[in-house]
Amino acid sequence: MPPERNADASGVEPGRVSIKGLGPDALADAMRELGEPAYRAGQLRRWLYRDGAVTFDEMTDLPASLRTRLAHRFDLALPRLVERQVSSTDGTRKYLWRLADGVTVESVGIPAASRLTVCFSTQAGCAMGCAFCATGQGGYVRGLEPGEMVDQVRMVGVDFGERVTNAVAMGQGEPFADYDSTLAALRFMNAPDGLGIGARHLTISTCGILSGIERLATEPEQFTLAVSLHSAVQATRDRIMPGVRAQPLTALRETLIAYTHGTGRRVTFEFALIAGVNDTPAELSALVAFCSGLLCHVNLIPVNPVVSTASDRPAEKTVRAFQRALADAGVETSVRVERGADIDAACGQLTQRRSETG
Ligand code: SAH
Ligand code: SF4
Repeated sequence: MPPERNADASGVEPGRVSIKGLGPDALADAMRELGEPAYRAGQLRRWLYRDGAVTFDEMTDLPASLRTRLAHRFDLALPRLVERQVSSTDGTRKYLWRLADGVTVESVGIPAASRLTVCFSTQAGCAMGCAFCATGQGGYVRGLEPGEMVDQVRMVGVDFGERVTNAVAMGQGEPFADYDSTLAALRFMNAPDGLGIGARHLTISTCGILSGIERLATEPEQFTLAVSLHSAVQATRDRIMPGVRAQPLTALRETLIAYTHGTGRRVTFEFALIAGVNDTPAELSALVAFCSGLLCHVNLIPVNPVVSTASDRPAEKTVRAFQRALADAGVETSVRVERGADIDAACGQLTQRRSETG
């Protein structure tokens, strides 16, 4: 599919750099290169991520000559809404966006009493190939630009007419496979003149990329870390999460101990219980052993049976047994309540739809 450009007054042409590809630092550098004072970068950032400008022309507190130079140099595109589904049971909304080059990604908006959480995608597709995950089974397309991530979150907030209080990188893709873009996006989301979401309310979920966890520990912000564990038995994990075979559980545990010690922050483990795969007593004892002595919280998720193999839900009593055994071992545990089930908006149900046109 040929690249789609927004045919607005700024006259976007091929060959320009996407401004949504720049993180906060690169945006500041670009303004410096244009000979502009530092505060201009802040103005530009506000237009892009607080106000959701569609053209450079509407950035009225920038000098007209600068707006023209920006338009010559940069492409400015917003995701286009292709489809929106609203859950009739709990108000969860699922969005399908088409990006400037025609690639599509999904986001989910999850309303609660005083919260609005947006689950955003960091990549179109995913290369990690997890056996139970619809995204993983669809393969990898490309990483998203920082602005493409921020725009998902901002636009869901606009659709709800509410401030987004929490954002989680739990849509399509592996955030640490695109570390720099993801961190740049979180910084725009966190900035008071961006989306103004508190750092602790911004969560990255990783399948366990060790270098990403190590880097996150050194960042100044208190972003929240979630790790998709899904099995504390190496052979099982190798089978269901082939993308992290080279990053074994022993190393993961050591890295997380260093992370929790270094940051004082707790890590959340996601554990999708799959009948006959990781719901056995042996899996449970391995999980308890893995968690013991680690500052963590375990989120048990009865798997969403979205792929044909290895994804049956366990019996409810199995889920309760896991919960009880973990609690007995002093490990904090919760069981995830499924949201938006009628619109396939739950984890692992976000798929890359490439056949879309128009
Ligand atoms: N790639 C990252 C983040 C996106 S996936 C990661 O893997 O952590 C978001 C969460 O949904 C992860 O915990 C993932 O393991 C989980 N998930 C994927 N497919 C699922 C399914 N079918 N049922 C339940 N959880 C699933
Ligand atoms: Fe990728 Fe996460 Fe799905 Fe695994 S669970 S395939 S890492 S999106």
